[in-house]
Amino acid sequence: MKLGDCLICWSLSHGSSSQKKHCDCLGSRGNDLGSQPIAFMVASGSYTAQLAEQRGLCKPDQCQMFTQLNPYQRYGNGWDELMRQGYTLGDIEGWAASSGTVVIPRATFRAYGPHTGYLACTVAHEIAHIRRHHIFEQSYHLNHNLKGQPEEQMKLGELKRSRELELEADRDAATMLSRAGYPGRVCQQELEFMHRSVGDGSITEPESTHPGYEERLKATRTTTPWKSNQPRRKQIPAPVIATTALTTCSP
Ligand SMILES: [Zn+2]
Repeated sequence: MKLGDCLICWSLSHGSSSQKKHCDCLGSRGNDLGSQPIAFMVASGSYTAQLAEQRGLCKPDQCQMFTQLNPYQRYGNGWDELMRQGYTLGDIEGWAASSGTVVIPRATFRAYGPHTGYLACTVAHEIAHIRRHHIFEQSYHLNHNLKGQPEEQMKLGELKRSRELELEADRDAATMLSRAGYPGRVCQQELEFMHRSVGDGSITEPESTHPGYEERLKATRTTTPWKSNQPRRKQIPAPVIATTALTTCSP
């Protein structure tokens, strides 16, 4: 399966004609995405879930369902207003299920606007999580490498590994976009855009699930863009590690 094949289906369903053009471009260079089926889903997003929790429609930590409502369906029970606000006030995010589904909330399309290359970076980042089986790897790491350690140490070790996997997905995304013919630093620019859009100038802390702004940007700056005259390397090494069924990203 090629990256473009996925994104063409995606853009035909939800994107603009300019997005389709960019997706066609992605498919023309051949990113090998393996044999696992990859599906795409437009959802309501985490801001909708926050509103649902505020209104007492779900208990804290039990609102996942409200992030994944269909924003194109009318429910007629009050949820529509939550989704309207989620669309207008939500921001860039995305996540991936270990089963191969990439979820992008509708607000992400609004926030990116015409920056279809940035959208491609986010989708590629989530595909990288799937292709490298990051959720499994995180679970494996927790249950094998960290097992038996004090609880606090296990938690910090799990978060440290989570940040490493995020940087790995960033590197893969940059390579995928480069192979597809996008400008070499488009994913670096996407990170700068995204962090400003969501208002996140955080620094890496031991409790961070994702690297902080500067660390993530620095890692992207040092990623060497793939060149068309380079021999093609195997993109996906053997798996390793994680914890939940979903890798939630920003993106
Ligand atoms: Zn991620």
